Parts: sequence; C-alpha cells; structure tokens
Amino acid sequence: MPTVSPSSTRVKLWGVRGSIPVPGPGTLRYGGNTSCVEVRADGEIIVLDTGSGVRLLGLALEKEFGTQPIKLSLLSTHAHWDHIQGLPFFWPAYEEENEIQLLGYKGVGGGFGAILARQMAAPFFPVRLRDLPCKLTIQELNEMEFHIGAVRVTSKFVNHPGNCVGYRLFTRSGSISFVPDNEPYEFRKLHAAACARASAEQARKFAISERAKLVEFLRGSDLLLLDAQYTDEEYQEHIGWGHGSLSTTVAMAVDAKVRKLLLFHHDPSHDDAMIDQMVEQARQLAADRGSALEIDAAQEGVELALDH
Ligand SMILES: [Zn+2]
Ligand SMILES: [Zn+2]
Repeated sequence: MPTVSPSSTRVKLWGVRGSIPVPGPGTLRYGGNTSCVEVRADGEIIVLDTGSGVRLLGLALEKEFGTQPIKLSLLSTHAHWDHIQGLPFFWPAYEEENEIQLLGYKGVGGGFGAILARQMAAPFFPVRLRDLPCKLTIQELNEMEFHIGAVRVTSKFVNHPGNCVGYRLFTRSGSISFVPDNEPYEFRKLHAAACARASAEQARKFAISERAKLVEFLRGSDLLLLDAQYTDEEYQEHIGWGHGSLSTTVAMAVDAKVRKLLLFHHDPSHDDAMIDQMVEQARQLAADRGSALEIDAAQEGVELALDH
C-alpha cells in the first residue's frame, strides 16, 4: 500500500551531489546522483528538485503504488542541469493516470515552463515535455509564499548565478529548509563592489543585510539542507561561482538556530573520505561556537523523520 501518512513528515534523499553525477567507487557511500529530495508530509508528496536522483525516486514510486495513480508536486529551485536533468527519466511522468504538478520561478531568458521544455526539445531528447503522457500541470510561481495542500511553503531568492531560490516547507511535524545552491554574501562584497562600482562600504552593508534576511528565512528550521560544496580553502579559488564554504554554511545554520544541518551539494571531486572529513570539521566548527547543532552530510538513500 502507498504510505502517504498524514501524521508524520518524512524526508528521503535521492540525490545529494552538485554540478554533475559522479558514479564510481569513491562515491558509493554518499552517492553520486544530483539534487533530489522527497518530502512526505500532511498527505502530500513534494519533490525538491529533479536532478539525476529523481530517476530512482520514480522507480521506487512505481513499485510502491503499483497500478494506483500517483499524485505529487515537483518543486524546482532553478534550472541548472544538476537540478533538472533527471526529469526526462522520471517514469511516473510516462503513465497517463499520474498527476504531476511542476512548480518553479521564471528563469533567466525564459519562463519556468519554457526553460524546462528546452532541455527536452530536439535535438536534446526524443520526448517533448508537453508530450509526456501524465496529467502534467506547470505552474510558474510569482508569490514567495504558497500552499501545497496543507503544507505552507515559503521561498527566497539566494546568491547564485541566474534566478535561484531556497524553499522552506512548514509541515505539521516541523519545518524543512532546502537551499541546495547558495554562496555566502560575505565574500561577494569585493566582487559586488567591483561589478556595480558600489563603494566597499555600500557592498559591506548590502552583504550584511542580505545575510540577515537569509538567517531570518531559515530561523528555527528543524532540518536544513544547505550548500556546502567547498572547503574554506577551495572556496578561495571559487569566489563568485555561487556555492558555499564549510565554515560559512555552519555559521549560517548556527545563527539561524537550526536543529539539524545536512551538508548538501557535494563537490563532484569529493570522495566519501573527503566528505567524512568535512563533517568532522563542520562539527568542530559548531562546537567551537558552543552550538548544539546536529550535523551530517546528506547521503543518498537516507531517510529522516521529523519527530515533533
Ligand atoms: Zn547545483
Ligand atoms: Zn546552480
């Protein structure tokens, strides 16, 4: 029987990697698939991003539901390939009886639906988005707060090339924040000053105020999945690329008084041993700040329950 329990919130990680899928012996434990997280809450199935991990989710849903129709919502943070590339391989979309709602914001250079359609247009893929047999609804979001069934969702634009949002889902059992791609504002100040010819002081004020808004957005989340692609050393070589560094990610979670942090969007060059080391460092950073924040690295296949 399908298990969309109305009384508990479950989160299952189907893809935790950033940039590109990296299968192979070095990524067996944390997984090589790109961004995809399934949330079951208050009678809804909500899927955050459709990176390559969504293929495995589709197979699991087909097995679970058998001949019964599947109804779910796919919520997109942005259209970088690692966040949408699994959609053409999401098998529930190929069954007429299934109802799939795709939600996301306008991107750079096109509306939400048009951008998603592009990756499936010839010559990139043989099946067009609009020819998928399921009952497909594409909804371009304008508001920064909306509901999926009884789940309240808030969203926030983050510091990442193009239009990219983070989402927070408020369920009866607690809230989950999903910010897979985000660069800390602190270090952009020099970059921003150079780009906008703003004074360093103006850029500093902007960075402080934008960071404070993100802290507010995340405040008190029970679970936060946040971009921690780089070590602090690696980050110095990637300023402006749109991704997080370990210490700024931990600092964000500590300042927002999050209960549990999952390091997300693992760099394709980081193997399991490297990610283990980053978790240890992150825990030490939180302890140094006197925080009781729980920290793990997001790991493909892991399922968590919110136990409020
Ligand atoms: Zn990404
Ligand atoms: Zn991205």
